[in-house]
Amino acid sequence: MMKSSAQVVVIGGGVVGCSVLYHLTKFGWTDIMLIERSELTSGSTWHAAGGFHTLNGDTNMAALQGYTIRLYKELEEITGMSCGLHHVGGVTLATSPERVDHLKAERAKHRYMGLETEFIGPDEIARISPITNVEGVLGGLYDPLDGHLDPSGTTHAYAKAARMAGAEIVLRNPVRETLQRADGTWDVVTEQGTVHAEHVVNAGGLWAREVGAMAGVYLPLHPMEHQYLVTEETPEVYERDSELPHVMDPEGESYLRQEGRGICIGFYEQKCDPWAVDGTPWDFGHELLENKIDRIEDSVAFACKRFPVLERAGIKTVINGPFTFAPDGNPLVGPVPGLRNYWSACGVMAGFSQGGGVGLSLAEWMVEGEPSRDVLAMDVARFGEWITPGYTRAKVRENYQRRFSISYPNEELPAARPFQTTPAYDIWKQQRAVFGAGYGMEAVNYFAPEGEPLFETPSFRRSNAFDAVAAEVRAVREAVGINEIHNFGKYRVTGPGARDWIDRIMAGRVPKPGRLSLTPMLSPKGRLIGDFTISCLENARGEEEFQLTASFGAQAYHMRWFQKHLPEAGVTLENVSTRRIGFQIAGPNARELLGRTTRADVSAQGFKFMDVRDMDVGLTRAVVQRVSYTGDLGYEIYVGADDQRALYEALIQAGDGLGLKPFGMRAMMSLRLDKFFGSWLREFGPDYTPAETGMDRFVAYGKQADFIGKPAALAERDTGPSRKLCSFVVEAADADVVGYEPIYVDGEIQGFVTSGGYSHYAKKSIAIGFLPVGLIEDGLEAEIEILGDMRKAHVVSEPLFDADGARMRG
Ligand SMILES: Cc1cc2nc3c(=O)[nH]c(=O)nc-3n(C[C@H](O)[C@H](O)[C@H](O)COP(=O)(O)OP(=O)(O)OC[C@H]3O[C@@H](n4cnc5c(N)ncnc54)[C@H](O)[C@@H]3O)c2cc1C
Repeated sequence: MMKSSAQVVVIGGGVVGCSVLYHLTKFGWTDIMLIERSELTSGSTWHAAGGFHTLNGDTNMAALQGYTIRLYKELEEITGMSCGLHHVGGVTLATSPERVDHLKAERAKHRYMGLETEFIGPDEIARISPITNVEGVLGGLYDPLDGHLDPSGTTHAYAKAARMAGAEIVLRNPVRETLQRADGTWDVVTEQGTVHAEHVVNAGGLWAREVGAMAGVYLPLHPMEHQYLVTEETPEVYERDSELPHVMDPEGESYLRQEGRGICIGFYEQKCDPWAVDGTPWDFGHELLENKIDRIEDSVAFACKRFPVLERAGIKTVINGPFTFAPDGNPLVGPVPGLRNYWSACGVMAGFSQGGGVGLSLAEWMVEGEPSRDVLAMDVARFGEWITPGYTRAKVRENYQRRFSISYPNEELPAARPFQTTPAYDIWKQQRAVFGAGYGMEAVNYFAPEGEPLFETPSFRRSNAFDAVAAEVRAVREAVGINEIHNFGKYRVTGPGARDWIDRIMAGRVPKPGRLSLTPMLSPKGRLIGDFTISCLENARGEEEFQLTASFGAQAYHMRWFQKHLPEAGVTLENVSTRRIGFQIAGPNARELLGRTTRADVSAQGFKFMDVRDMDVGLTRAVVQRVSYTGDLGYEIYVGADDQRALYEALIQAGDGLGLKPFGMRAMMSLRLDKFFGSWLREFGPDYTPAETGMDRFVAYGKQADFIGKPAALAERDTGPSRKLCSFVVEAADADVVGYEPIYVDGEIQGFVTSGGYSHYAKKSIAIGFLPVGLIEDGLEAEIEILGDMRKAHVVSEPLFDADGARMRG
């Protein structure tokens, strides 16, 4: 008899559900059960090719993939079962200089993560994999951790380890409904009866969309068809003493490995199709899809040149099976925004590389309240309410096609764009804007001069946007620049309890009416989960109204946190991110420009740095904040979306003779480097603490409010951090740091880069990164590895622009 209540019900017995179940037991929860529609592995899991690797464009994901791979030995030891491990190593080929750059950049990141990848030459590739024709191959990244396993054995090993610790697994029992009770617990209605559970985990894999819909949520993922072939026995394979390593050939969009005495090769082909657009059929069982050889013909022809043995080896089987992807290819993990006690473990496209890390992170989150590392790259809250099936489908297809493409740091992908825009979009377009997109919203990256392409060339090196960005920076520093401030997340907080609530949720000081403050938001463990600007205004009734401003891309992440901590009454919270938009003006002429558009007193004394006022600006009623991320004299002017064009007209007309020029995000990110200002997900994120990042100067340790994270922040203040952010000037050539490059001092890796780039104002290459506290001193000589080259760097503590703040505050 199935039990009728449990602390957790995990829906789905694929590799991911079983990993979640095992990890929950590892963290001490044992009153848990997994419910599977059919047998274990009945979704994508059973027909997977079973390959695993660490390479991932996102560094934290790569680290979790490393964790997953190392976990299999532990599973085998606990259960006495075999995962069928073949740790044969693998090499990713580079056939272009750009790919060499990419792989060298990845290797540099791996160094600080403790992953032992190596860049090897064509001769070495031919030696370890003699079936590879290395003509045109410039080198490759070798990873000793690559390998493959038995998908079914591994899933059953997770399941056995969980059962041994007390978890229950119920098979052949489809979940039909998930109904939430008023107290936030769930009734999980199954064919064999109803289970009352405190928490539900959706690990429904191929059916995760349908399982999500049972709880009224849309999870942005989509299944794609995927094909691999297995050849007959081949002497080149079985006559060897050792097993062949994996070979990933991005140019051919293929991955290859040994399968018994033959070869297994799979393709991420361009002619690909989303599967089951209108929903995965419930009667889809342990079955495969019809082969579509015509789709992979070109890839097979290419593979025969790269691996000539394939021409001689007959094909034994073709496997065509579906598996799911999220729009950016990373899993969807964590508490689903808008629901209580409902957790996602879906969209896992590489279950055998990522399943362990997904299980670990989710279990930590459920049992301990937060994951032990930054998992934002796979947080289900990285997509917001704006996401739609149409968007997901287009992006998933693009992601599948780009599985083996290089991800450049400055690249903007074209699918599903433009999606969300502001009324200023056409204005910028007429001015030759080159756009980027984040969180579904278009934002200007830079303005292409006449005669230049309306496209930034993707590159690890300085791009064709360099001169245009330099000119925009100059306009800000020498005259006045204008750009949009729509891509901030903005939250309006009102009601009699607003001040107290903000005081508890934010670690910093809550400003008095008419003022702004900067503050970190902390998790209970004292990690940074937001960097906010708080503004306080008083309405006509004398009530305080607050605006909280933070990263645009963190909206669902922040709303999920706010809603979790919102009191029953007394506080009204609204996400106004796309409704409150406007412009920022910055530069020495910014005050004159604002003054020409308003009758309000904007003199240095009348409107000071960090002041906020209601003001009439041109025809509009605006909220103006005197603050600027450019580090310059600047103002953020917020209006309702309907008024944005009128505000623009007012500013443009008033800008006559002041040298007013528009600037984009590329210039903004260069300007902030002049002051070493950190940014969300680069310098600030849940892997870091206030004292490590310098955000401690905004923590009000002495305030009365018992703010979240206070004990941890106080403890850190007393002991002091062991590492701190510092800034470097780098002797770079034509490439600047991006993030996660290792920093060497006296030949030893001592830290890593969080971000950086080129300061067009100072004409210097800048890096920001962590070093042990004991090492940091002005002028310290270091080296930073950029694209495989060691670049000299030295620590600088004085900002490059306006070091005394005279211009910003004046
Ligand atoms: C051809 C192919 C090759 C692949 N090769 C690799 C590879 O080499 N390496 C790699 O890492 N990955 C590979 N994958 C991907 C891998 O298969 C997936 O990442 C992985 O299987 C996802 O596991 P999952 O547990 O999330 O989902 P699934 O395996 O789909 O599991 C979901 C489970 O939930 C159950 N379920 C759904 N709805 C309900 C319900 N209402 N009630 C009860 N139970 C329910 C299903 O029956 C199913 O068992 C490949 C996939 C394919 C198709």
